[in-house]
Amino acid sequence: MASGERIFATEFKAAPYWWEAAAPTDEGSAPLPAETEVAVIGSGYGGLSSALELARHGVDVTVLEAGLFGQGASTRNGGHVSGGVNLGKGAGNTQGGVTADDIFAESVDSLAHIAGIIERENIDCHWRETGRFVGAATRRHYDTFRAKADLYNRHGLQAALIPRERQREVIGSDRFFGGIAIDRAAQLHPALYHRGLLDTARRHGARLCANTNVEAIERRGDSFLVNTSAGPLRARHVVATTNGYTGKATPWLQRRVVPINSYIIVTEELPEDVAHALSPQGRTLSDSKRLLNYFRLTPDRRRLLFGGRGSFSGAPAEEVAQMLYGMMLDVFPHLDGVRITHGWTGNIAFTFDGMPHFGTHEGVHYAMGCNGSGVATMTWLGHQTALKIVGGNRPSAFDGQPFPTRPLYTGRPWFLPYVGRWYQLLDKIDRMRT
Ligand SMILES: Cc1cc2nc3c(=O)[nH]c(=O)nc-3n(C[C@H](O)[C@H](O)[C@H](O)COP(=O)(O)OP(=O)(O)OC[C@H]3O[C@@H](n4cnc5c(N)ncnc54)[C@H](O)[C@@H]3O)c2cc1C
Repeated sequence: MASGERIFATEFKAAPYWWEAAAPTDEGSAPLPAETEVAVIGSGYGGLSSALELARHGVDVTVLEAGLFGQGASTRNGGHVSGGVNLGKGAGNTQGGVTADDIFAESVDSLAHIAGIIERENIDCHWRETGRFVGAATRRHYDTFRAKADLYNRHGLQAALIPRERQREVIGSDRFFGGIAIDRAAQLHPALYHRGLLDTARRHGARLCANTNVEAIERRGDSFLVNTSAGPLRARHVVATTNGYTGKATPWLQRRVVPINSYIIVTEELPEDVAHALSPQGRTLSDSKRLLNYFRLTPDRRRLLFGGRGSFSGAPAEEVAQMLYGMMLDVFPHLDGVRITHGWTGNIAFTFDGMPHFGTHEGVHYAMGCNGSGVATMTWLGHQTALKIVGGNRPSAFDGQPFPTRPLYTGRPWFLPYVGRWYQLLDKIDRMRT
């Protein structure tokens, strides 16, 4: 295996590949007003989608972003868009008569919703409904896929089992024991999608304030005083969409989300035939491990983007790149020697029940906790939150579900390295048993 420095191209950047097309920016930032109807904290998909819908309803809305617009996960992710395939995991924990099927159905709706926004607002972000393939890391995982295919098909996701002998039709690897192909899944360029939402929200009248860190929120009668690094702001409603970057301005939320680093590397341009053979149908790809890897071709179909949870102690992206490179070779051994041009990390917000949440606590609306699957979900939950404020939302399976925390957890996930090692061990044992 190519090692150490030799895996890095000379032009290597410890920054997202996506930022080559659209980097986080404070261009077009508006001055902070003294008052607004709705203050939205965070300028990722959640915040912008909420602001867009509020602005479309004629509401005076102000987005407050601590740094540059899009500096969070929304310009750093893998750009896989699946209708709830990953969300079913926590569905057993719901209350109030909400079933796993309700959760799943609404997750599937979120896929149609994001496709609708991109089309309606004409957002040029390489949206392609190419489908997805999940490779079974073990024989036993493949056996469990049959039940999953039934669930997915019940919700119209068009899933089919792909046995090992046909696997090469969908992935240029023999690493897996077959897998499941889900046709109703898509991909996009995350930063271009983010930029499109930003421009669209502004065009519809949302006020966007960069470099405005929310430091505290005080309830004042039937409104709020939002103290920011740029001054105070009075708001009738507050919406928190800070996800894996939730901090002490909202301590109740900070105790309920666990920020976890996810890492991505991108290869140099590959010969066209080599790149094509990695994902012959252009599907997004992932595996079934507890600590899963996710991968895909870039929109020009010339590079491989490969992601995973390489470190649980917040190690820098360059350090983790070597580990991810090893994981990439485990799937595609013939890529040994290929160099990487980009490597980066971003925060995912995990929750203690594995579910995303939206609701209201002490008058503050929130939408967060996507457990690594937030492109469609945060777009959806931001939109739902906006509709709730203007009074037009339909009942949502995610709304107001109990949002658990753990005793003594204050938002600093000291336990992650231990949990990470435990999951790594379980994945190894699974593999040995196969
Ligand atoms: C490496 C990686 C890969 C991923 N891959 C995928 C994928 O392939 N598919 C998928 O569906 N999902 C994926 N995700 C998850 C997805 O990116 C997120 O769920 C989604 O972008 C979250 O959007 P958001 O708007 O909730 O939060 P973010 O985009 O994280 O935005 C939160 C914003 O809040 C701001 N903020 C925080 N505190 C304050 C404050 N006090 N005042 C003002 N602003 C504040 C932050 O600066 C940040 O800009 C991935 C995530 C990562 C990190």
